[in-house]
Amino acid sequence: MRLDRCPACKARLRGDEPLDQPCRRCGADLGLTRRAERQAEAAQRRARQALAAGEGALAFSEALRALRLVDAPSTRQTVAAALICVARLRRDQEDSG
Ligand SMILES: [Zn+2]
Repeated sequence: MRLDRCPACKARLRGDEPLDQPCRRCGADLGLTRRAERQAEAAQRRARQALAAGEGALAFSEALRALRLVDAPSTRQTVAAALICVARLRRDQEDSG
């Protein structure tokens, strides 16, 4: 989910630039955007770990945090996966109780 284009001038970016490196073409400050991406990646990682552990509520919370930071297909997919996990857990609880 790394920034691949400058939001200001659409110059192609490598995605591995230092956080505070401005756009080489237009000089736009990309630090805040890159920090938000890194935070979203971390939240998404926590969401996937929670999903793997069957912790649906935590997965959903972290997935939403990632989506609020970066609205991208991968963050939407994580939210959807977390919702499915929560629904299955709820169904399993209803079936057993
Ligand atoms: Zn630019």
